[in-house]
Amino acid sequence: MKGAVLHGPRDIRVEERDEPRILEPTDAVIRLAAACVCGSDLWPYRGIQSITEPTPMGHEYVGVVEQIGSQVKNITVGEFVVGSFFASDNTCEICQAGYQSHCIHAVVMGTIGTQAERARVPMADGTLVATSGMPEPDLIPSLLAASDVLGTGWFAAVAAEAGSGKTVAVVGDGAVGLLGVLAAKQLGAQRIVIFSRHEDRQKLAVEFGATDIITQRGDEGVTRLKQLTGGLGAHSAIEAVGTQESIMQAIRSTRPGGHVGYVGVFHDVQIPGDELFFSGVHLHGGPAPVRRFLPELMQLIRDRKINPGKVFDLELPLEDAAEGYKAMDERRAIKVLLRP
Ligand SMILES: [Zn+2]
Repeated sequence: MKGAVLHGPRDIRVEERDEPRILEPTDAVIRLAAACVCGSDLWPYRGIQSITEPTPMGHEYVGVVEQIGSQVKNITVGEFVVGSFFASDNTCEICQAGYQSHCIHAVVMGTIGTQAERARVPMADGTLVATSGMPEPDLIPSLLAASDVLGTGWFAAVAAEAGSGKTVAVVGDGAVGLLGVLAAKQLGAQRIVIFSRHEDRQKLAVEFGATDIITQRGDEGVTRLKQLTGGLGAHSAIEAVGTQESIMQAIRSTRPGGHVGYVGVFHDVQIPGDELFFSGVHLHGGPAPVRRFLPELMQLIRDRKINPGKVFDLELPLEDAAEGYKAMDERRAIKVLLRP
């Protein structure tokens, strides 16, 4: 089968990979209906996160089950399924508490590489959620968004306690930040302020529910946000970038007693203890337990109440994955959908 493999900085090749097989009786093998490139794939692509050998890429996936292991009970061959970037048993105490991304048996799907024609999914009963019947083709981008960026933006909004009457600040105008806006709106936030300087992203943010846009970044952006909120700051902040500047911007944008939901993967972040101490904010985040939210998000998509698939503004055949990475790297595309 064909799959995308990273060979070194900015060197993505779509090449022949081994056919996935059932290795454990709890595995399934799916045929991908769509895959995509994640903002977090750009870290190794840019060489900021180094690799030691050719690495299969991709951790977002939707598709049709082709094979199941002998112990799989809840998923059947032919079903259309959505999973997330951590395979999880969904039965351990951590999973049951809603933190499937920290499952005691978690498997990182990025090590399997889902920018491919097929993929093995460990712990299929815990990891996968099936749609009832085949989804209409135009819903596939939104279901794929649920696999990561929507689930992650949703978790950030929940972690930030975005809700009725709240003012929510969103740091980051990539797919996760934009879907954080959508989540905050769905959760009932009154005012949603996004930091963004890109017109196309501002437009989508407004469509998803943003009420205010701040074009300044860093402390200048924080000053502007304080002006908009009577000097107090937001009740909730969503951090969807993962840099030193963005997390500090999120913390400084939040009023005392408020909540920061951070989901951008941290790279060389140091939070000064004294500033954290005196900020009086709650911090919660990390790798999103997307599995917790999948059934609810898939229902909202099937009912056409949300349209998160709009974050995909470029669609390419899997063979052109290299161009997809390039377009996201150069910020020509918000998010790229790949058709195997
Ligand atoms: Zn578990």
